[in-house]
Formats: sequence, C-alpha cells, structure tokens
Amino acid sequence: MAGIKVRNITFKYPDSKAPVLKNISFNVEPASWTAIIGHNGSGKSTLARLIDGLLIPTAGSIEIDGIRVSEATLGIIHQQIGFVFQNPENQFVGATVADDVAFGLENRQVLPEKMEKKINDALEMVGMLKYKDVEPINLSGGQKQRVALAGILALMPKIIILDEATSMLDPLARKEILTLLKRLRDEQGISIISITHDLDEIELADNIIVINDAQIVKQGAAADVLKNEKLLTEIGVGIPVSQRLQLLLATRGINLPNRYLNLEELK
Ligand code: ADP
Repeated sequence: MAGIKVRNITFKYPDSKAPVLKNISFNVEPASWTAIIGHNGSGKSTLARLIDGLLIPTAGSIEIDGIRVSEATLGIIHQQIGFVFQNPENQFVGATVADDVAFGLENRQVLPEKMEKKINDALEMVGMLKYKDVEPINLSGGQKQRVALAGILALMPKIIILDEATSMLDPLARKEILTLLKRLRDEQGISIISITHDLDEIELADNIIVINDAQIVKQGAAADVLKNEKLLTEIGVGIPVSQRLQLLLATRGINLPNRYLNLEELK
C-alpha cells in the first residue's frame, strides 16, 4: 500500500506566462480513492503528470511511499504507479492484445513462464480474455481502454492514476471497470486517483479535490464536497435531481440506495 504527500506544488510550463498550478497540497491515503475534478484547462492532467514524475514541479515536493519524486527516483516511482490515459490509441505497442499486455511485463523482465498467467489474469479482470489474439486496431474505444487497463494491472501497481480513462466506455462497461477498481482498492489496497467528469466515478471517491484557476478551491470527503451544488455547477459537474434527493436525505442520516433512483439519469 502506498500513500502520497503533495506539498506546496507550483508548476509552470516553460512557455506558459502564469503558473498552471499554484501552491497545491494534499494527501492521498493508502488504499483510498481520490477524484480530481475541475474545468478543462484547470491543471488536472498536469497534476497527474507531476505525481507520476513525467513533469517535475517548479517548487514544492511530492512523496510517494516516503520517496520524493525526482529524476533520480523515477525508476522506483514508476514501479509503484500505473497511469491510464484518456486516449488508449496513444498507449498501444503490441501487435495483438496479449502482446500489448506483455510489453510492460517484458520491460520488468518477468520470466517467460510466468508471463502467460499474468497476461491471462489481467485480461480476465477487465473482461477481455477472449480478445487475446485480436489486433488492437480492431477493438472499439472502450475495449482498447480495457486492454490499456489490463496492461497496467498486470504490473500490480500500488497506485493507479486514471486521466479521463473511462470517458470512452459505454455506461455498462464503465460500471464494470469502476466496480473492478473499487475491488482493487478494497481487496488489494491499491490507491486510485481519477481525473473525471463522471458523477458515478466521482461518487466512488473517498476524497475529492476541486481545482479551479490553478488552485485547490475545495477538498474533502465526497459527501461533503458533493453537497456544494453551487461549486459543482461552477466547475461544470451537474448533479441529477435524483442524486440531489439522495444527498439531501444523506445529510439527514437517511441512506437511499441507488436502486431507488432513476438509473437512466445517472448514465
Ligand atoms: P486539465 O487536465 O484540467 O484540462 P491541463 O493540466 O491539461 O488541464 O492544462 C492546464 C493548463 O496548462 C492549460 O491552460 C493548458 O493549455 C496548459 N498546458 C497543458 N500542457 C501544456 C504544455 N505542454 N505546454 C504549455 N502549456 C500547457
């Protein structure tokens, strides 16, 4: 299990006039789910890339499991983090689905006799085992996204960062993947960080971080942040009426299960 400490991060791209992130601090507890939400262009992907060490902060520090992210520690950091991007096209390298999942394992020098089982297990987890020998180019967007996730799962990371990674999935496939991620958090202690506009995904989070204008404008428990409708409307996350009712009741200690809500509205 791994936790993350982000302390006073400021980041400016060489060609940006103002910092894209200013004085960002938060913790990610081990085995927790953190949702990062905010308008397009508010700095969410930049923050994810800083955590993964793909970018190095202009000021401040990030520690993963007690190790400070820097160029010198990137090897160790990348063993702990799996990063799933929005566009799965950008992450395919193999001629077949199985080859693609094998790629990361080969990089880690996993023994060939252990490889097959790891590939099969990971593909099974995302419901793509029967597509093992298919060329990735022939898959739908959602299927590609599942294979990308399998490639990450095969490496057993302690932290998974999803950058709008479920946005290409249809509602059913999205629900399946979210259920799988929830299980990974609960049973294997994997920490999930998801950048998303999807309310189902946001709702699964233990913590929500709201970014606006390069700064954290609110962070806290999901129930707390989701109550703040004004803020959510400001950043473009709309809450369906049925969920508003659920949240309202929750503030009065009444738990209205999802089955009583209009599920069509949640999609
Ligand atoms: P979000 O993920 O919230 O949509 P980003 O982190 O992608 O936001 O972008 C934050 C800001 O940084 C935007 O204004 C964007 O135009 C700018 N930006 C993103 N990538 C680069 C880059 N490589 N060079 C310069 N500016 C960038």
